[in-house]
Amino acid sequence: VSELRKDPFLTRWVVLAPEREKRPRSGTPEACPFCPGHESETPPEVLALGRARGAQDSPGWTVRVIPNKYPAFVRSPETPVPHPPFLSAPARGVHEVMVTSPDHTAHWGTFSDAQGVEVLRAVSMRRDALAALAGIEHVVLFENAGDAAGRTLSHPHLQLVGLPILPPVLTEELRAGEAEHAARGCCPYCSWIEAELPSGARVLEAGPDVVTLVPFAPRFPFEFWILPRGHAAAFPGPGDPLLGPIARALRTHLARLTEVLPGVSYNWILHSLLPGAAHPAYHWHIEVLPRTVHTGGFEWGTGMFLHHLPPEEALRRLRGEEV
Ligand SMILES: [Zn+2]
Ligand SMILES: [Zn+2]
Ligand SMILES: [Zn+2]
Repeated sequence: VSELRKDPFLTRWVVLAPEREKRPRSGTPEACPFCPGHESETPPEVLALGRARGAQDSPGWTVRVIPNKYPAFVRSPETPVPHPPFLSAPARGVHEVMVTSPDHTAHWGTFSDAQGVEVLRAVSMRRDALAALAGIEHVVLFENAGDAAGRTLSHPHLQLVGLPILPPVLTEELRAGEAEHAARGCCPYCSWIEAELPSGARVLEAGPDVVTLVPFAPRFPFEFWILPRGHAAAFPGPGDPLLGPIARALRTHLARLTEVLPGVSYNWILHSLLPGAAHPAYHWHIEVLPRTVHTGGFEWGTGMFLHHLPPEEALRRLRGEEV
């Protein structure tokens, strides 16, 4: 049984999820529960796109979403044994896996335009479904691509977790955003985009609807962010035309990243408020974190990140310019 435990000294929660230890690790399609034809090896699907005919849990899908077989969060968790004076809570939530392609070896760099949009449409549909459940305060979506990014099964997939609390990263982004908004009267992310575009020194791509920037203070070499130009606190709905340019930006720049750094592991994370949320100081975005350097004692000891690559140089290398 999973449980949330509050750190007694910090505003930080830890998730203890013993079930997760039983997760299989596999690299080959023969032993892969996410490959077409192996649908019976996963829990029954909650969403499948692209299957024109054929029964539920049969091949023919382009994107398939299933409950995580080894969930960290469940709908009806057992109440943990209390340990006064310490604070703990049941890990109430949802944990799903989205298989993003029937092709075992595909990745964002090889996805077609249509596949990228299909994945983001499924993301939006499940985000909406999870957000509608009672007690869900936040939905986090992420991909662990590559062993150094924490992946256990090599078939391309994302994870979606509906959480009973707003996690510390979002709380901190909101607090910092609100402070900036109070001081300057505008959304700090909108101001950031406006400040970066004229010089282009940290602009990977400025599309009409979506921009891709390298942050001024990146935590990792080659880190980049994707943001909508228009102010919005929440990732768009399943029918929104913005999904096209977002998918294109993800595909293009992840493909470029794997060209510059063959075999690189990375995480990408969607930071968004729940659908329908309007917030003047919060602007949803995708953070792409390449894992080329390990976080060590300095990072754990200080909460500060340290690496060798200024973002302006990362930009030049991602653009293929001489350095
Ligand atoms: Zn597979
Ligand atoms: Zn904004
Ligand atoms: Zn963020």
